[in-house]
Amino acid sequence: MEDLDQFGLDVRDWLEANCPTSQRQPMGPEDQYWGGRRGTFPSEDAKVWFERMRDKGWTVPEWPTQYGGGGLTPQQSKVLKSEMKRIQARTPLYGLGIWMLGPAVLEYGTEKQKQQHIHAILNGETRWAQGYSEPGAGSDLASLQCKAEDMGDHFLVNGTKIWTTAGDKCDWIFCLVRTDPNVKKQEGISFLLIDMDDPGVTTTPIALISGESEFCQTFFDNVKVPKENLIGELNKGWSVAKALLVHERKLMAEIGSDSPRHILQPNVAAREYLEFENGKITDARLRDDLVEYDMLMQAVALTHFRTFEEKSNGVRSAAPMVMKYVGTEAEKTKSELLLAIMGSRGMGWEGDGFTPQEIDTTRLWATSKVMTIAGGSSEIQLNLIAQKVLELPQR
Ligand SMILES: Cc1cc2nc3c(=O)[nH]c(=O)nc-3n(C[C@H](O)[C@H](O)[C@H](O)COP(=O)(O)OP(=O)(O)OC[C@H]3O[C@@H](n4cnc5c(N)ncnc54)[C@H](O)[C@@H]3O)c2cc1C
Repeated sequence: MEDLDQFGLDVRDWLEANCPTSQRQPMGPEDQYWGGRRGTFPSEDAKVWFERMRDKGWTVPEWPTQYGGGGLTPQQSKVLKSEMKRIQARTPLYGLGIWMLGPAVLEYGTEKQKQQHIHAILNGETRWAQGYSEPGAGSDLASLQCKAEDMGDHFLVNGTKIWTTAGDKCDWIFCLVRTDPNVKKQEGISFLLIDMDDPGVTTTPIALISGESEFCQTFFDNVKVPKENLIGELNKGWSVAKALLVHERKLMAEIGSDSPRHILQPNVAAREYLEFENGKITDARLRDDLVEYDMLMQAVALTHFRTFEEKSNGVRSAAPMVMKYVGTEAEKTKSELLLAIMGSRGMGWEGDGFTPQEIDTTRLWATSKVMTIAGGSSEIQLNLIAQKVLELPQR
């Protein structure tokens, strides 16, 4: 405990000396650095901050030192995160490589794969895309059809993936591919890493109603993939895919903790937009909703705390399975509550008639819904909780 206290003091000093002032403020999407061959830094200070954190091994503090990570224990990593949060230090590097692929490579990859990919992820050299969903395989992921044929010294990949987030900005894609069509569907899937610069890989951005285009459809047309890019065993990719989804859902459960700029908290918004009488919010319905939301958030925080303690003590817990559903639904509830509190001030999408904070809050309301779909929809999460946590009989 004493060591941990000393570690906290050292971290505090180091952050004080190394985190530029401009990197100690809440950030919006335009302030994030995602690395990769085409990655650009949002500012010179963001570059300096990233490089200092990278050299310290703290872009991913818990990963092993032999691959360039910080080698911190979960307790030390928690201290680092809380010290960063205290001064509002920005996350220096974002990426699906950090959140999803890296943990899967560390668990299932060969030594050569770890040497090749973990370093590159930590150093921000590669940006990864996720190639799971297909036009006919979303919730029912195991029905995927994109196929990889064994050609002796390589795989030949043909097919398509959809909803590939930032596919047109990524260097590599981790894909689930069908390698055996003649067995139970989960048993004929493999996990393959594909360089998106390889001949035959193309991406087409998908236009969204917002006018933006953050997703792509990715096509594979006779793409030759080296055999050494297979993670885990042939036809055993479903296990790797599920392990990776656990990391993805953990991340989703924590969404909102890295709060973007200008976003209001419901209790702050209530003071700004609602009427009070004798210290009480006059609208009884909104008053109840606020109290309910507050109780929910306290329960979520306590459950995160419990999960951390259980993990640190080697206790298996069902909580992480529940938290993707709870965390993303809570974010949706928060956004809806904020809009209800803001009334007509919560209807601004752009322009001078609304403050930047109001516009960001309305936009976050739209975004909050997608997280209840990405990484497995809420309905699918409820099915999983019913089967695996509550062990209810299946219909
Ligand atoms: C923001 C965002 C980012 C994403 N990024 C990526 C990415 O980078 N890479 C990638 O591969 N995919 C990505 N996806 C796709 C995501 O994984 C799928 O959207 C998700 O798995 C749902 O699949 P679907 O869209 O095909 O919906 P469907 O599976 O067609 O589901 C439609 C509706 O039916 C419901 N439903 C389906 N089956 C059941 C059932 N058995 N019981 C009850 N209800 C059911 C669902 O809950 C949903 O409401 C992303 C999605 C979003 C929203």
